[in-house]
Amino acid sequence: MAELSGKSVYITGGASGIGRAVVEGLVNEGAFVTVLDRSAEGLQELEQQFGDKIRTITGDVTIYEDHQRAVETAVDAFGKLDVLISNAGVFDAFAKFVNVTPEALSEAYDVLFSINVKGSFFAAKAAVDELKRTRGNIIFTVSGAGFYPDGGGVWYTASKHAQIGLMRQLAFELAPDIRVNAVAPGGTLTALSVIPPLRPFVNVVDNETKAKSIKTRNPLKIVMASEDHVGAYLLLASDKARAITGEVISSDGGLAVRGL
Ligand code: NAD
Repeated sequence: MAELSGKSVYITGGASGIGRAVVEGLVNEGAFVTVLDRSAEGLQELEQQFGDKIRTITGDVTIYEDHQRAVETAVDAFGKLDVLISNAGVFDAFAKFVNVTPEALSEAYDVLFSINVKGSFFAAKAAVDELKRTRGNIIFTVSGAGFYPDGGGVWYTASKHAQIGLMRQLAFELAPDIRVNAVAPGGTLTALSVIPPLRPFVNVVDNETKAKSIKTRNPLKIVMASEDHVGAYLLLASDKARAITGEVISSDGGLAVRGL
């Protein structure tokens, strides 16, 4: 995908899982990548692997200034910003609404919505001026939970619906300068973490059980790995997708054709 050669991309949550695989895919296609993550250790590993192709920022997506630092870093290092990928996210591990106390409900709402939703608002706000200059694009990582029930509990499901709303409205407001899209991965084996306020209310399942459940639910009967979603990001990021905005690419083994 020669279109990505020399592009400057800012991604959040790139130190692990899906984001990590996307960073690798981008670098392999000749892009320069700036990664914001709260895992200093994960970022260090990225630096060792990718050297001068990347820049890293240890920070938190709930802090606007951290996004500003990341955008400044990308522009200083690589001269511009072409693509934002807002990917960092956390999970509620299917916590059941009826079981959770009002206090935990409130705390879980604040923590999860701050990361999954406000983190995406902040990333887009910090990047918008630079993206306008390059007529660039934004990609949000959403989820099958952005369309269907039972991809998580109410917190996660509502947050992913909210991100799709943010994506659609921004696609409308930022046209014709900036394309705005999303990728909706299905269940994938990663380290996606359960937020602390909900930990007393959920059973954390091992990877084998998770893999079985993922395989049973999707029509292609595959256990998805992070690498399986990379192609969708590379397409949307590139000029090959110049006519695509306001869309979600589902990379989920076919949940839409699951039937009853
Ligand atoms: P992951 O835990 O492997 O990766 C998430 C990354 O985000 C981690 O590196 C983590 O340190 C970082 N992060 C979390 N909170 C942060 C914060 N406040 N500030 C900065 N960095 C932060 O999980 P993943 O599964 O790769 O998740 C990536 C995205 O994919 C999320 O948006 C998630 O909702 C979405 N997703 C995951 C699945 C799945 O089954 N794993 C399915 C659909 C969508």
